[in-house]
Amino acid sequence: MFRIGVGNDIHRLEAGRPLIIGGVSIESNLGADGHSDADVLLHAITDAILGALALGDIGTHFPPSDPKWRDAESKVFLEKASDLAKQQGYSIVNLDSTIALERPKLRPYIDEIRTNIANLLELDINCVSVKAKTGEGVDAVGNNSAIRADSVVLLSVTANGG
Ligand code: MG
Repeated sequence: MFRIGVGNDIHRLEAGRPLIIGGVSIESNLGADGHSDADVLLHAITDAILGALALGDIGTHFPPSDPKWRDAESKVFLEKASDLAKQQGYSIVNLDSTIALERPKLRPYIDEIRTNIANLLELDINCVSVKAKTGEGVDAVGNNSAIRADSVVLLSVTANGG
């Protein structure tokens, strides 16, 4: 049996914040604002996994009102979602993602981001797709005032039946 999930996230870009995408530090004069480390890609993937399991969303499991998650590394959220999938007898088949960011260009970072996510989820890198595009100068992404990520994840029942 398969289950599919979709996730997206958006964060404001502000000076004086780090820009972390997929657990990788990006050189940029603007960073993502947020309660945790504001890793928009890991948040979208976490939501996609939780969505596939019909287990709510990242805010359900990690409320931003809880000071425990202030400046938290977002890999904690992703690993928790991955654990929940395993507990329910599912493993991730593959995931696909798109990051929308006006600048800097993310191409030099893409393989490091994919490797990091593959390691966090114990997947082959060929099962982790990360694409990047700009906002073509329009809307919040195009104005360089926000970063957005979208992700789709496919789960299947593990071979041992979970
Ligand atoms: Mg977020």
